[in-house]
Amino acid sequence: MPFNYRHSVLCADEVALDEIAERFGTPCFVYSAASIAASYAEFEDALKGRAARICYSVKANSNLAVLALLAKLGAGFDIVSGGELARVLAAGGDARSTLFSGVGKSEAEIFFALKKGIGCINIESEAELDRVQAVAASLRLRAPVALRVNPDIDANTHPYISTGLRHTKFGVPHAEAEGLYRKAADMPNIDVVGIGCHIGSLLLEAAPFIAATERLLLLVDRLDSAGIRLRHVDVGGGIGIRYKDESPQPPEAFVRGVLAALGRRPHTVIFDPGRSIVGNAGLLLTRVEYLKPGFLVVDAGMNDLIRPALYGAWHEVQAVRESASTTGVYDIVGPVCESADFLAKGRPLAARAGDLLAVMSCGAYAMAMSSNYNTRPRAPEVLVRDGHALLVRRRESVEELFALERRPD
Ligand SMILES: *Cc1c(COP(=O)(O)O)cnc(C)c1O
Repeated sequence: MPFNYRHSVLCADEVALDEIAERFGTPCFVYSAASIAASYAEFEDALKGRAARICYSVKANSNLAVLALLAKLGAGFDIVSGGELARVLAAGGDARSTLFSGVGKSEAEIFFALKKGIGCINIESEAELDRVQAVAASLRLRAPVALRVNPDIDANTHPYISTGLRHTKFGVPHAEAEGLYRKAADMPNIDVVGIGCHIGSLLLEAAPFIAATERLLLLVDRLDSAGIRLRHVDVGGGIGIRYKDESPQPPEAFVRGVLAALGRRPHTVIFDPGRSIVGNAGLLLTRVEYLKPGFLVVDAGMNDLIRPALYGAWHEVQAVRESASTTGVYDIVGPVCESADFLAKGRPLAARAGDLLAVMSCGAYAMAMSSNYNTRPRAPEVLVRDGHALLVRRRESVEELFALERRPD
């Protein structure tokens, strides 16, 4: 665990969080490089001896320092926009080990990705396949593609983050995939290289994930007999983490099940985890501004961390200075002018105005989903590595927030 008390002060690895708050101010995101590396290694170890790639899902946390760290460890990347590809390249990642996912890729994004030598475009509809063929023809190259197939599996998760059922916008229906593969295989500027799926996020159990892989493999075998030989099987991400008291099966259980399903097939297997790599490697450091009966008003808000407001998500909150007793039960709320602006509800804590709190499990979908609502500058990000706290994104200034705006004459 990257965050522990030492001499009654919560630390990120060896670095005390009150020192980080002193240096960089609050609110502030703090990440542990060692924890990210350890989570990556869990996948790597489980996949040892097998042709495999781990393509970190950039949207979970796209800070360049996080991407650079993972690139150095040998990770590939899973992206959902041209902007994310630009980040991967800026961080020293390789386009050839990057997959481009997402339902709404623009012509400009496809052009950019192909020019940079993207490893694979995950096609989500026939219209998109036609568009990729046209862009690839204009560039006189062959676009490597996979179809993202919707296995119609219920991932048993929150409807906003469940993506594998028939009525979601994602993927090509399982029943239509074979026809589309035949069409793709006949296109002059398309190189069919793989198949993919992603059934949703925050999966606590491996069973639906493995079931989806098995559905995918039925198709892989059928295509194989039809002479369409795929090189990779991308089984997606979505492996859950503990936020409260859940007991998610570890990545190793997901990997083991997938490898068993694959058996002796020669395909390279690809995982694209996001949350399970970075989620519990980060926290949001915030200071109590005011004590109101029943409330702790803190300096972080829903613009910094929208998950509680958006999904009703539960984040553990810990006092940075450890205390044996509590001073009350509080809703922890931010300064934003919305009733949904809360970080946590009904938490027994020891807190006074000026105290520091740590909102845990903020490594994934926290800073990445933050906004400037209420003209609030986004928080800085600090990476703790080898015992040092490194500023990897500085706090925005207020002037920067309206620097692109103009008053008309
Ligand atoms: C978002 C996404 C992921 C990562 O999901 P996590 O829940 O963060 O692991 C992986 N693959 C695809 C295609 C995605 O859209």
